[in-house]
Amino acid sequence: MIGIDLVELVMKNRKEAIEKWEQRKKGEKIIRNGTNKVQRFNPLVGISKEFCQLIRVEGQICVPCWKQGIKTIISQKHLEEIHNINIVGYHKLWIEIRDYFVYKKKQILDKPLERLKREEFRKKWTELLKEILEDTNKKTEEFCKQDYQRLC
Ligand SMILES: [Zn+2]
Repeated sequence: MIGIDLVELVMKNRKEAIEKWEQRKKGEKIIRNGTNKVQRFNPLVGISKEFCQLIRVEGQICVPCWKQGIKTIISQKHLEEIHNINIVGYHKLWIEIRDYFVYKKKQILDKPLERLKREEFRKKWTELLKEILEDTNKKTEEFCKQDYQRLC
């Protein structure tokens, strides 16, 4: 159900059910016109593996906190609020990626022959995601090293 406009799906199902019912009442053969097809959207088109790596970084256990008995992960919010480390969170990135996709999709809505190009998204996001991942890794590695040295 990801990437499906549920309201649109319900409206199409309703319309098709009414049409089929009218055809049945008249004793006509039911003709499916294919209007029930729902257009799917994949905002992650052209998004590189670095985005998944960023999600994985934020899913790691926060070792300093775990050693103190606080069971948590190193999410962007946790790092900022507890350890005063600022990283670009994957959730904020996801919203930007999704909004950009929607923006691009709206640009071609009235142009049925045009399609979104994976390469365009790749060009926009790949280098940026690499830089963000590098920055995040640097900050989280330093953070873990400092803690390790402090404990030893
Ligand atoms: Zn922590």
